[in-house]
Amino acid sequence: MLAAVAAVLGVSSSMLLERPLEQAITFAVENEFRAFEVWADHPHAHPDETPPEMRRRIRTALSPFDRISVHGPLGNASLASINPGIWRESLRQHLAATELAHDLGATVLVVHPGDLRDHRFKAEFLRLSCEALGKVVERGAELGVTIAIENCGPLHAGIDQTAADLTTIVRSLGPHGKVCLDTGHAAVNKNAAELIASLGDAIVHFHVHDNHGARDEHLPIGAGSIDFAPYVPILEHLEGMAIAEIVWEQARSTQSPETLARAAKDGWSKLLDKPR
Ligand SMILES: [Zn+2]
Repeated sequence: MLAAVAAVLGVSSSMLLERPLEQAITFAVENEFRAFEVWADHPHAHPDETPPEMRRRIRTALSPFDRISVHGPLGNASLASINPGIWRESLRQHLAATELAHDLGATVLVVHPGDLRDHRFKAEFLRLSCEALGKVVERGAELGVTIAIENCGPLHAGIDQTAADLTTIVRSLGPHGKVCLDTGHAAVNKNAAELIASLGDAIVHFHVHDNHGARDEHLPIGAGSIDFAPYVPILEHLEGMAIAEIVWEQARSTQSPETLARAAKDGWSKLLDKPR
């Protein structure tokens, strides 16, 4: 039986971070992805490095896609930072990323909840994350951009050390509390079932990639050991995007970007056509 899936498969510009953004967009068009996620960090489209004229050009280049998302800046911009100056700057950058998303025609901005750098002050980090995200989702609501908070977990020193932590953060945002579920992060953090149980109704966006459970390998679906079956019922009703967060590296990748893209698309089709 063929599953009636509404989610649209896309690819992230971060797949080709060593190439210019324009080339990553062209690559995704040529490989017939229907959605695209723009990496709003150096060197692709950091909000501070993307002036209005460039935004117009990128938006035009993105017109072949059905749906667009943006990934917020990561480089040390933690929304949970207990360093007051860094926290303010991180918030400024995320608000700027929300505006960038709007300018590029994106409907979703993916953000990380922030880093936990000292477990003794976890409550404070959590409070700061909720406070910053509250301001970001407010700006998003004004601009028509949904903010999707990504599960990072211990793997990425995330403030969401557990699914319960992420639930606390997401629910603190009321109706604006939405989630980007990263299948690779959930596998390494070993909390996929808990995340689905407590936040399944809040998932609006997916990062779909595979690994073998020990580290973030960013492989195409099917190239690792993740059981994607629990995600299928959510994908069936998700009127959003599933972004293949596969990574190609000039110096390390043994396969061409085209081969990787094909594997990601094949893995996606197999997952959804599987009789259940
Ligand atoms: Zn991700």
